[in-house]
Amino acid sequence: MPKVQDRRLPEPDSPEIRQLFPLESVRQLYGFLYERRDSPPTTEEIHAFVADLFGPQSEAIRRLRSIRDCFVVQRTQTGRIHRYRLLGWKADAPDAMRGTLSRATRARILAPQRCAQCGRTPLGDEVKLHIDHKIPISWGGEDDDDNLQPLCEECNLGKRDFYATYDSHSAAIRNATRQDEPHGRIGELLKALEGEWVPSDLISIVASMRQYQDDWQRRLRELKDLGWVYHNRVTWPAGSRRALSEYRLVKWTPWPEGSIRSAIEEGKSRKRAREDD
Ligand SMILES: [Zn+2]
Repeated sequence: MPKVQDRRLPEPDSPEIRQLFPLESVRQLYGFLYERRDSPPTTEEIHAFVADLFGPQSEAIRRLRSIRDCFVVQRTQTGRIHRYRLLGWKADAPDAMRGTLSRATRARILAPQRCAQCGRTPLGDEVKLHIDHKIPISWGGEDDDDNLQPLCEECNLGKRDFYATYDSHSAAIRNATRQDEPHGRIGELLKALEGEWVPSDLISIVASMRQYQDDWQRRLRELKDLGWVYHNRVTWPAGSRRALSEYRLVKWTPWPEGSIRSAIEEGKSRKRAREDD
């Protein structure tokens, strides 16, 4: 079982939980586990709870996994009955203070009074501005000014939907963002989603997480020098004004010892030397 942090569990309706879990169903399930800490629900009760709210097709286990990215949920077994008890914060969960921005920070980020994405303003367009974490906290994003921006409600919701698609992968994505080099971040993301088509938007976001990458495509191509193989496809989703470019990993190799960049450079010069022979 993962280590539990000595830190108070957030209230289900707190800003912290809203920040951690963009999906309402995940927040609801957290609330259910929170209320039932003294009499932990069974697998069946969890399924019934989620199905009641979100329909029989809803994937309770996937929601539970999202919660376990941040919290320790202990599973106990008596006979054939499994129960799930919400114990506390996971040791490597995001910092508790995040998601609660100071008033000064909020004022500073909202000062442009314009949505960073669509450019609409509260005065001219009667939109409400929210503070958005460019990289969600659950993916390892921080409360730094660099990671904060004003977004109107509509853009914010659209963005949440996009990220929510990948919610169940947030642990893997967080792991990818921990890599120091852009090649490592891109590679770990593709590995985490191996066999799936990964949209270029997502690769671009993860590649730029520690420092902005203006040419992540090149970093991706360079992985081929390490023996990686992936496919690329471009489609036009119905009703979209933009082509959708996606990548799917076919084969990867273990990372070299030391810097990835220098291993790639060495590989290139060896290749050039062979070609000159
Ligand atoms: Zn907007």
